[in-house]
Amino acid sequence: MSIKIAKFGGTSLATAQQFRKVAEILLSDNERIIVVPSAPGKRFDGDIKVTDMLIECYGMAITGDDFKKKIDDITQRFNDIKNELGIKVDIDSEMKTISEDMRNGASEAYVKSRGEFLSGKMLSALLGWKFVDPATVIVFKNSTTLDSVATYQNIKSECKDQKTVLPGYFGADGDGEIVTFSRGGSDITGALAAAAMDADVYENWTDVSGFYMADPRIVENVRHIEELSYEELRELSYMGAGVLHENAIFPVREKGIPINIKNTNKPQDEGTYIVPFSKLKKHELSITGVAGKRDFSIINIKKTSMNSELGFARRILSVLENHKISLEHMPTGIDTLSVVISNEFLKDKEDDVIRDIKKAINPDMIEIIPDLTLIATCGHGMVHHLGTAAKLFAALYENDINVRMIDQGSSELNIIVGIENDDYEKAVKAIYHQFVQ
Ligand code: ASP
Repeated sequence: MSIKIAKFGGTSLATAQQFRKVAEILLSDNERIIVVPSAPGKRFDGDIKVTDMLIECYGMAITGDDFKKKIDDITQRFNDIKNELGIKVDIDSEMKTISEDMRNGASEAYVKSRGEFLSGKMLSALLGWKFVDPATVIVFKNSTTLDSVATYQNIKSECKDQKTVLPGYFGADGDGEIVTFSRGGSDITGALAAAAMDADVYENWTDVSGFYMADPRIVENVRHIEELSYEELRELSYMGAGVLHENAIFPVREKGIPINIKNTNKPQDEGTYIVPFSKLKKHELSITGVAGKRDFSIINIKKTSMNSELGFARRILSVLENHKISLEHMPTGIDTLSVVISNEFLKDKEDDVIRDIKKAINPDMIEIIPDLTLIATCGHGMVHHLGTAAKLFAALYENDINVRMIDQGSSELNIIVGIENDDYEKAVKAIYHQFVQ
């Protein structure tokens, strides 16, 4: 029998009706042996995710504000689902414990992990599957680093005999303190469970039928992607095609386990498969997708004969490091070097950074170009199709889009251009329609 691990996102568990769909999906296929639930997400536009409510609650506890009303709202959300499902879970006493823990100084990680915890309790009651507390199996060495060896061993021994509900998003360190992954991190838990169990497929259930070649909010009738490689997925999700947490890829990639993005509301749709490059069917198009991310700045630096000056780049990078700025890209020319930085890192530091770079390398010219969008056009097909770059730049030129930066990594998987924020949507449409007729 093959093994499937199924992770369900917040919108898949936002209401009792969604819980029922999840149960039906799980019970319709005996190969689904572990389910990883998120906390209930938004039920409608403008609704608040349970995780955000919990974070707000924690903020109130820290500032000494009365958080009772917030706790009541969260309790109500869980009770609404529970009552409609007719399951037995003592939400009131679970929430009472959380309130008490908060009064006694519980950590933020603990508080914000409770959405997944309770979601898991309810799903376990609905399915009659074993509940495993991630605090007992997902092991962190400290507040940021996972111990994957211990985690895999624990998941294997806890989940091997019975169908299991393993809530997403958190684990605990050696002292038993709760540690969470970054937001959207239930995807990582699902990937860890899949890797631990040597699953045949990691199903990631959400509210879309997988990936599209561009953001469907920008491009009408956009083409669906049936299959892409881990590398392509990483490029696209890094650039904001946000279906899956970008760190969820690593555990499954290591073992070559395919990820299948599926839609809880349309389970009959095939979704998108993410597979190792070696198993990828040949794409008919030269590109797989186009995605963009707003709000970057470029620092352009010019210095004649910089290439012969030893330690030139290192000195620039040290300045960034001293200011705790991580850089995204570093295109270079003969006498020029640019660094692309997310605006959030540069905020309020521009003058200090420019001053320190001037001090470090004495450039002929240095300038910051703010508010740029990066657009990545990506796909393994580029290597085999002549003229991909020509087509890309023609599309931008014909649509009056000024290119401020170009970067093509060594992988030949991706061409990134920097354009004005205002041209973002126009550029995505132009590039997409250039390649897809
Ligand atoms: N509930 C968490 C969040 O909203 C984790 C997750 O859903 O994956 O970020």
